[in-house]
Amino acid sequence: MDIFTVIYFVAIVAEMIIRAPLNQKRRQEKMSEQRVTSQEKILLGLLFLGMFFVPILYAASGWLDFANYRLPAWTGWLGVLILAGAVFVFWHAHADLGLNWSPSLEIREKHELITRGIYGVIRHPMYASQWLWVIAQPLLLQNWIAGFLNLLVFIVFYFLRVKTEEQMMLDSFGTQYQEYMKKTGGVLPKL
Ligand code: SAH
Repeated sequence: MDIFTVIYFVAIVAEMIIRAPLNQKRRQEKMSEQRVTSQEKILLGLLFLGMFFVPILYAASGWLDFANYRLPAWTGWLGVLILAGAVFVFWHAHADLGLNWSPSLEIREKHELITRGIYGVIRHPMYASQWLWVIAQPLLLQNWIAGFLNLLVFIVFYFLRVKTEEQMMLDSFGTQYQEYMKKTGGVLPKL
């Protein structure tokens, strides 16, 4: 296994450690709104394949070797830098969103609209982090399947998810969210 593949899995473990305490606590939360469609469940499953399962297959077996490519070393290190940025933004977003985080579209009974920290600059830092991740992935896992599947699935997921999520937030928080949208960018800060 090359150094870039090892770093990819270290970053996965780091994100699991960041998310684990919230995942555990939020199980006790009561939800007032859930908008989880079967389309979303399928996309979340495909994201799991692209981020974990196929990379493991690439790293632990020779099955995907036919689709390998080789990039110069500096592109791998650029990937490491982008991946570190992704993990940092991921951590920051979880620290700010706390128990209001959920893997699918949900509003909890005690839901609070977070507009502080990184959410004061962009509305979707977790998706911004995921964009950085899917850009870094083909630089680290130098394989047409393990490198790119996550990117392809995430493009579809992102455009469907953001639209429904913002609609749900508007329905739940009304003018408060409208005002918040005026002041912030989606995944890039508003200039
Ligand atoms: N789109 C955000 C959050 C992803 S987690 C991001 O990329 O960082 C998805 C859940 O977060 C949604 O179900 C919604 O309930 C919640 N959420 C999204 N933005 C929020 C905000 N500003 N304040 C509180 N909860 C938010």
